[in-house]
Amino acid sequence: MSKRGIYKSPDELRALVAPGLLTAQALAAVRAAIVPGVSTLELDAIAERVILAGGGLPNFAMEPGYSHTICASINEAVVHGVPGDRRVEAGDIVSIDCGAEVDGWNGDAAFSVVVADGTRAALVASRQRLANATEKSLWAGIASLATASTLADVGAAVEDAIDSVGDDFGIIEDFTGHGIGRSMHEDPPVFNYRVRGRQPAVKPGLVVAVEPMVTLGTIETHELDDGWTIVTDDATDAAHWEHSVAVHAGGIWVLTATDGGAAGLAPFGIVPVAIA
Ligand code: MG
Ligand code: MG
Repeated sequence: MSKRGIYKSPDELRALVAPGLLTAQALAAVRAAIVPGVSTLELDAIAERVILAGGGLPNFAMEPGYSHTICASINEAVVHGVPGDRRVEAGDIVSIDCGAEVDGWNGDAAFSVVVADGTRAALVASRQRLANATEKSLWAGIASLATASTLADVGAAVEDAIDSVGDDFGIIEDFTGHGIGRSMHEDPPVFNYRVRGRQPAVKPGLVVAVEPMVTLGTIETHELDDGWTIVTDDATDAAHWEHSVAVHAGGIWVLTATDGGAAGLAPFGIVPVAIA
């Protein structure tokens, strides 16, 4: 880390634009391919192809012991699902997490989608409500960065957004968002709920991955025998949404959204500003 600590220079912020966009492209390609019958390994190959074709490298594959481009976490899996032979089924809630590295700089983003199922309307509606609430909380957290004094405001915004939808959700505390830059995971942690104690200032140069993980039950999780996949202890469904966001002198810019976050931020009255 530079002498600037967690805050990046304008040049460093500019370097984060390309990996963010490539991450967005990879996730869009995966999202378009999520249909019943596709395997998570096939989805992984799609993301890898997009990232390599775009001149990047899959940064997840640089994590010690991990060799894939995405994490694919289905139903009760919260995060870190390992791609394999499992095939997506109608009605599944599928969370895809992915990141690209370009010229040594990183992007990191995730989405959850519910696969259509003509025979299980109640299940699909429940999972869609969970995915929507989690996405809403992500954008509330991101929007808060436009006016926040510290990162404590982000956690409060995420928590309030979830509470505004219902009181039956659990916000995962075992995992948090994080700073992102030369490394995919940097300081500071970004909590998805109200925290006590002093939090880092939100000011130009801060780049964070905001990533709420929300369940329809417990917030207790455990790791499967594969050494990666995190599932809810009570096997209730989980969702995960994430974007990498830069705070700069002109405003905020969502690096992993092709529109800089314009659509997601519009309901909050926030207009993202491109990094000059
Ligand atoms: Mg991620
Ligand atoms: Mg992340």
